[in-house]
Amino acid sequence: MNIVILGSQGSGKGTQAKLLAEKYGLTQIETGKLLRDIAETDHPWGKRIKSMMLKGVLVSDKILMAVLKQTLAKPAGNGRIFDGTPRNLPQYELIKNILKSRGEKLDRVIMLKVSEAEAVKRISARRICKNCGRIYNLITDPPPGDFKCECKGELVQREDDYPDVIKKRLKAFNKSTLEVAKRALREGILLEIDGERPVEEIFREIVSWIN
Ligand SMILES: [Zn+2]
Repeated sequence: MNIVILGSQGSGKGTQAKLLAEKYGLTQIETGKLLRDIAETDHPWGKRIKSMMLKGVLVSDKILMAVLKQTLAKPAGNGRIFDGTPRNLPQYELIKNILKSRGEKLDRVIMLKVSEAEAVKRISARRICKNCGRIYNLITDPPPGDFKCECKGELVQREDDYPDVIKKRLKAFNKSTLEVAKRALREGILLEIDGERPVEEIFREIVSWIN
């Protein structure tokens, strides 16, 4: 079974992806992590990816697609859950095509919806450790105490997590993701789900739909 989970930053999609991966024995394909891993190696794209990430620019479709092609070539047990891609229609079609060429298909698309206000609230609660780079969330994943990291480093808010910047990012995200959701709806594989509820409740609803 291959699942795509769509949702803006702050939608809680990473948490649901992890729960689904555990329940169904799926390989979680977290694009952000894949790219960060490559950036740390001496892979030919490493440097380019790293500089794009430092600038806060989204990695180009071309690199992303090449990375996905490579990743999808590996066997994945019971299937995969895609978290962080596709961000637009070309990426969506690419994933479907690669799966098809492997005799598989995309079975489900989950769209986790949260309002702009809620996403802004969740994202602006993020704090990053100046020392080790660990990310906390004052609401969902608070630091151990004293507003310090477990490594005792100082926690700060990243500039791109300020409300104005978040809103701009959400707007761009919503526009292209909506197109993916529309296509999945036409294909009859879309579940739209209200993400402003407890994690367990959302998870139960997704599982009952899959089953
Ligand atoms: Zn730290």
